[in-house]
Amino acid sequence: MQFRTRAIHVGNEKCPETGAVVRPVHFASTFVQPGAGEWGEFDYSRSGNPTRQAFEATLASLEGGCGALAFASGMAATHCVMAMLCSGDHVVAGSDIYGGTYRLLHKVTDRAGVEVTLADTTDPKNLAAAITSATKLVWIESPGNPRMTITDIAACAEIAHEHGALLGVDSTFASPVLTRPLELGADIVMHSATKYLGGHSDLMGGALVVRDQQLFEELYFVQNATGAIMGPMEAFLCSRGLKTLELRVREQSQTAQHLATWLATHKNVEKVLYPGLESHPGHEVAKQQMDDGFGAMLSFELKGNYAAAKKFVESTELFQLAVSLGAVESLIEQPASMSHASYDAADRAKHGISDGMIRLSVGLEAVEDLQSDLAQAFGKD
Ligand SMILES: *Cc1c(COP(=O)(O)O)cnc(C)c1O
Repeated sequence: MQFRTRAIHVGNEKCPETGAVVRPVHFASTFVQPGAGEWGEFDYSRSGNPTRQAFEATLASLEGGCGALAFASGMAATHCVMAMLCSGDHVVAGSDIYGGTYRLLHKVTDRAGVEVTLADTTDPKNLAAAITSATKLVWIESPGNPRMTITDIAACAEIAHEHGALLGVDSTFASPVLTRPLELGADIVMHSATKYLGGHSDLMGGALVVRDQQLFEELYFVQNATGAIMGPMEAFLCSRGLKTLELRVREQSQTAQHLATWLATHKNVEKVLYPGLESHPGHEVAKQQMDDGFGAMLSFELKGNYAAAKKFVESTELFQLAVSLGAVESLIEQPASMSHASYDAADRAKHGISDGMIRLSVGLEAVEDLQSDLAQAFGKD
């Protein structure tokens, strides 16, 4: 079955009791056991819940994994992976990783005696140089935030595996519509389901999808032991979100490609950072590992300074001023004052985050309306 057919049918079989086309949401925390010391399929909802399991089954199918685990947030999903590490283990993470992951690694995971090294994985040679015999995990993101840097997932998988390390990919920006990291050799795929999987800015969630059954069992053990599971209502909303995932992401990517092309010709724009443009340094790798589009996230640099970018992001009407991404509503933000405000000026410079940078999460509105919204914001210079 094709991707979009699986998105609708896998995990979403009709309700056996009533024939309902949409399964009921199971809010129960506990399940009656057949006898003392005897266990049915479900016993307690932290360990397993039918509604959560349905979402996990669909997502595992879309990513091509042996199983998926759904969490209360993206950070809870990432934390579950990091919680498998032991004192003396080493992690190499991409230098463009999500800010929350950076904080987790440097302020929580390191407390357990885990060492962390950041490497610019847009050149896999930097990963090869950073990896050691103690490295247990390599953690990358592609596209990376906010410059939409592209990392060659297959090349990183090869390097990680040569050294006996696992490769985890935070694939939140790409979604399984555009990139399926397990097919490229990754061991674990992580999603903030808050973004494209949910897709409607109305839930928090996270997920891991795993290639290998034994690794799946280990992660399941940690999830059940630590408890940050996705609730049934969120799981229901995520299942619903997945049904339109392909259509949304494809359409939103097309709109982003159009806006990126238009912005690149605008007299007030210094530079556009979008992997779908030939000018983007990651374009060739993106063409190989992304299909059906280059994503719906793009950044651009305004000619002018911090104040000009601040004024711009406060001037759009359809693009709403907010962090987060991946939903049907278009959002706009200024990384220097918002998503990356915790970086000091030197760190921002090191990561190529200029004061005039603006990040767009392109939604599902008509491309003409989004373009005229940006055009009127330029007019307010
Ligand atoms: C939002 C996000 C996360 C964290 O997910 P939450 O659901 O906010 O916990 C991790 N990685 C990326 C790339 C994200 O965009």
